[in-house]
Amino acid sequence: MSIYGSIKEMIREGLFPSDGRCIFCKKLLLFEPNPFCDSCLEKIPWIGQKTCKKCGKEEVIEDTGLCTDCIHWEHQYEQGITLFTYIGNGKKIIQEIKFDGNKKLAQWTGKKVGQKLKKQNWQQKIQTIVPVPLHENRRRERGFNQSEEIAKGISSILSISMLKNSLIRVKDTPHQTGLMRNQRQENIKKAFQIVDIESVQDKKVLLVDDVYTTGATIDSCAKTLKQAGAKQVYFAVLAIGKSRIE
Ligand SMILES: [Zn+2]
Ligand SMILES: [Zn+2]
Repeated sequence: MSIYGSIKEMIREGLFPSDGRCIFCKKLLLFEPNPFCDSCLEKIPWIGQKTCKKCGKEEVIEDTGLCTDCIHWEHQYEQGITLFTYIGNGKKIIQEIKFDGNKKLAQWTGKKVGQKLKKQNWQQKIQTIVPVPLHENRRRERGFNQSEEIAKGISSILSISMLKNSLIRVKDTPHQTGLMRNQRQENIKKAFQIVDIESVQDKKVLLVDDVYTTGATIDSCAKTLKQAGAKQVYFAVLAIGKSRIE
């Protein structure tokens, strides 16, 4: 290998070990600081400017500032922010993180969320970051909690610490995929517990998760946190699903 080749290799390995290729199209990445090539990066369904003022979805009903979901349903949280819509390449990112165990991608996307939060001055709204926990069984099965990896990225950008073991999942709920809203709510009810009340008392909390679908999980966590004395609960996720009135 030429000197030039080995320098490229070193840079590539340093930034994104694995094979230094775009996660989607497998094009060789040379000096791109991202895990994707520029054209795949553009194809991620990033959330634009016009969003629901409650959940952050890129859907707004004129005059209300809300999406159809938030018009119909009350939430336990104050407000949420999200990076992209859970379709196409957005969905693929989540699958890559969750099922292929790409922790580096989780942290990279977490940093992107952190930058977005910083731009909108959210560091003034929140005091602590809490990842949505997995049940111990699920965590053991997967080997890591994707929300925790995303939260690490956010925490590093905002310089706000993450509370790792304060909120725990006590109910090993079945997968939520395919369930209707009321089934999801029933499923997730009393699924969480606070083990360290003092750590959240009177705090403004940022909950972190990978995907927001109906908001049942975030709402259940927010309720638990508020019952333990948290002042306000916000959330940040990587991906949000489209509205689905049921
Ligand atoms: Zn690509
Ligand atoms: Zn909404």
